[in-house]
Amino acid sequence: MEKYVRFEISGIALYGRLDDDLIEILDGPYWDSIRPTGKMVPLSEVKLLAPVKPSKIICVGLNYHAHVKESQSAKEAPKNPVLFFKPPTSVLEPEGGVVYPEGIDRVDYEAELAVVIGRRGVKIPESEADQYIFGYTCLNDVTARKVQKADGQWTRGKGFDTFCPVGPHVVAGIDASDLSVEAYLNGERKQYGRTSDLIFSIPFLINYISSVMTLESGDIISTGTPQGIDPMQKGDRVEVRVENIGSLFNTIV
Ligand code: MG
Repeated sequence: MEKYVRFEISGIALYGRLDDDLIEILDGPYWDSIRPTGKMVPLSEVKLLAPVKPSKIICVGLNYHAHVKESQSAKEAPKNPVLFFKPPTSVLEPEGGVVYPEGIDRVDYEAELAVVIGRRGVKIPESEADQYIFGYTCLNDVTARKVQKADGQWTRGKGFDTFCPVGPHVVAGIDASDLSVEAYLNGERKQYGRTSDLIFSIPFLINYISSVMTLESGDIISTGTPQGIDPMQKGDRVEVRVENIGSLFNTIV
């Protein structure tokens, strides 16, 4: 298992491999080719950025059986994946503030496991999907729920700036087929599910999505949220925790 980060030090954004409390600086994005520089910097001296700069963020709605049951609009599991985009401008770093939009009265957390693509691919067979995955991270698919419902499609409700916290690091070399995915609000557990409950598996999604659009290295596929979604208020601290990956913390401002 390896952990990769993107971070800022002295105003410069860099990529690195995390080794306990030290970061080994890499010469370029880790997913393109891993070229260590031999330089180390303590984790405590840097500001972590979102660990990827995706060209696109493809999200899957209603992908846990238990979440379909709690959703008022969906009565049964979808026959095909429900896909939508979050814009790259919505990406937020670990510990960053999710900005509660003015005039909006319900903003929810959605804890999700996110896949980071490591190689450009088109029409990727399910059996080869693993070769296109660089690693996994935590993602909070923050949603203005009433806007999402009123609009009839999800671009505005999912797309506000800061509505896509990602991180804190990307973990490579793990099996993601049965991991717990949880959300905690002010320390209280609100969501719990396991990726073994996914309606559409990660290899299936990679095949399905890459049959439509080219996947680029650094792109994110967010696999959907388990049951237990609820609103957040200004001042709340939200945590997305994924087993074997870590915890992504943000506050609502
Ligand atoms: Mg979601």
